[in-house]
Amino acid sequence: MKPAPFAYAAPTTEDEVLDLLAEHGDEGKVIAGGQSLLPMLSMRLARPSVLIDLNGVAGLAGITEFDGGVAFGATTRERAAERSALVGDRLPVLAEALPLIGHEAIRNRGTIGGSIAHADASAELPAVAAVTDAQLVLRSRAGGERVLSAAEFFQGHYTTALADDELLTEVRIPGSPPGAGWAFTEVARRHGDFALVGVAAMVVLDDAGSVEAARLCLMGVADVPLRLPAVEASLAGQPVSADTVAAAATDAVAGLELASDVHGSGDFRRHLAEVTVRRALTTAADRAGAPA
Ligand SMILES: Cc1cc2nc3c(=O)[nH]c(=O)nc-3n(C[C@H](O)[C@H](O)[C@H](O)COP(=O)(O)OP(=O)(O)OC[C@H]3O[C@@H](n4cnc5c(N)ncnc54)[C@H](O)[C@@H]3O)c2cc1C
Repeated sequence: MKPAPFAYAAPTTEDEVLDLLAEHGDEGKVIAGGQSLLPMLSMRLARPSVLIDLNGVAGLAGITEFDGGVAFGATTRERAAERSALVGDRLPVLAEALPLIGHEAIRNRGTIGGSIAHADASAELPAVAAVTDAQLVLRSRAGGERVLSAAEFFQGHYTTALADDELLTEVRIPGSPPGAGWAFTEVARRHGDFALVGVAAMVVLDDAGSVEAARLCLMGVADVPLRLPAVEASLAGQPVSADTVAAAATDAVAGLELASDVHGSGDFRRHLAEVTVRRALTTAADRAGAPA
């Protein structure tokens, strides 16, 4: 199929984008990398009257230092982030997740902001945003600027807190706690496919080698990236051992209601999730310096 007819706007400043969004409301749609929106237009799952192209808005892309971490302008290409030395240095979990997104050709066009705004429940970047306590900066003519957490931003599969007239302008990821070990692990049927399940994990150890703090986020098992605060809290104070990690993995998947589909049964997905949590936590603990 071909897209339904639409008008095309090519603004060159953020102000112009905000004006266009204010003017067109739910009839206007921004396009960044087009890697998700173009198929949706072609299948007529999206039928905007006006397509607002962000690619000519130079100020919207860029990688800068932020609070010991990194801030990304929304239209920063996934591939630019993957190649960034600052990202490699400051955000190891993002550096590990980025190459798992589709293929290079997709990451050459796809943007950090586009992936987060699209909010696919099986996408890597929303899970990274959730596990790193990222701040998502939204701007509009009517509302000015607001800064949301991932928990506030992601509301369901392809559903976010973005209002029709709002633009995601920046994704700010704070630096890691000192000594943190991170891991991003996923299972996909083929390299480049959306994963069946993925897990982002962080472990910080205390001087005695027990867990001081942990973070865990599952992707592909719910309609939003799933942080597990109860499991994170239960890990604190525990020695790092195969038993501790296995118990956390069992707890992590205990309440999951997973549907069966062409890729596998719900039970198979739950098993994958449990194994993936175990792997991610083990790797994160190793990287935090846990004895082998
Ligand atoms: C074959 C293929 C395989 C892929 N595999 C994966 C994968 O394994 N993992 C993965 O995570 N992704 C995958 N993707 C998707 C890819 O990462 C996309 O780049 C990403 O989902 C959307 O980013 P984009 O910049 O292309 O956004 P677009 O397609 O341009 O836009 C997507 C949506 O976000 C909105 N939007 C974009 N930017 C903004 C903004 N700044 N503010 C507000 N709204 C905005 C658009 O209006 C649209 O609704 C794949 C894509 C393809 C084609």
